[in-house]
Amino acid sequence: MKIAVLAVQGAFLEHEKMLKSLGAEVMELRKAEDLLGDFDGLVLPGGESTVQGKLLRELNMFDPLKRRIEEGMPVLATCAGLILLAERISNGGERYFATLPVTVRRNAYGRQLGSFFAEEAVKGIGRFPMEFIRAPYVEQAGENVEVLGTVDGNIVAVRYQNQIGVAFHPELTAHDGMHRKFLEMC
Ligand code: GLN
Repeated sequence: MKIAVLAVQGAFLEHEKMLKSLGAEVMELRKAEDLLGDFDGLVLPGGESTVQGKLLRELNMFDPLKRRIEEGMPVLATCAGLILLAERISNGGERYFATLPVTVRRNAYGRQLGSFFAEEAVKGIGRFPMEFIRAPYVEQAGENVEVLGTVDGNIVAVRYQNQIGVAFHPELTAHDGMHRKFLEMC
C-alpha cells in the first residue's frame, strides 16, 4: 500500500516514519507532477494552514487534490490538515478544500494554552495520547460526521466518509492506533 504525504510545509516527516513502521510505502507530494503517481491514501500534516493552502495553490496541487478527496481517496488530516479540510473556519477568512462538513476554530485554545497534552478515549481505538500545538477544534460537526473524540467537551477528532480529521498530532506520540485505523481505510 502506498500513502502520499503532503510535504510542502510542516510536520510531514513524523507521519512518514510512523507509516513506514506500519509497513506502508510512502511518497511525498511536493509538486503537481507528484500527483500523477499512484497512491491509496493521503496524509495532510500539521503545520500552518495558511501557508500550506497558499503553497497548494501556487504549486497547482490544490484542484487535483480536492478532486481526489471528493472522489473518495482516504485522508488522514492532522491539525492544520483538519483546517484545510473544513467546510467552515469560524475565525479565518479563507477556506480551503472544504470537503469535511464541520466548522473549525483556528488556534482555538488561545495563547496561554497554545500547546498541551491530554489523554482521552478515541472511538474504536481506546485511550489515546494527544499532543496539541496551537490547535484548532471542531465547533460544530455536520450531519453524518462521526465524532471520534472530545477533550473538555470540545470535539477534537472526527470521521466523515473517507476523511479522518484530528486536532492533535498522532504522529508525535508512540501510539500508532490512528495511523493503523487510517491504513485500514485505505
Ligand atoms: N495553528 C496552525 C494553523 O492555524 C495549526 C497548528 C498545527 O498544525 N499544529 O494552521
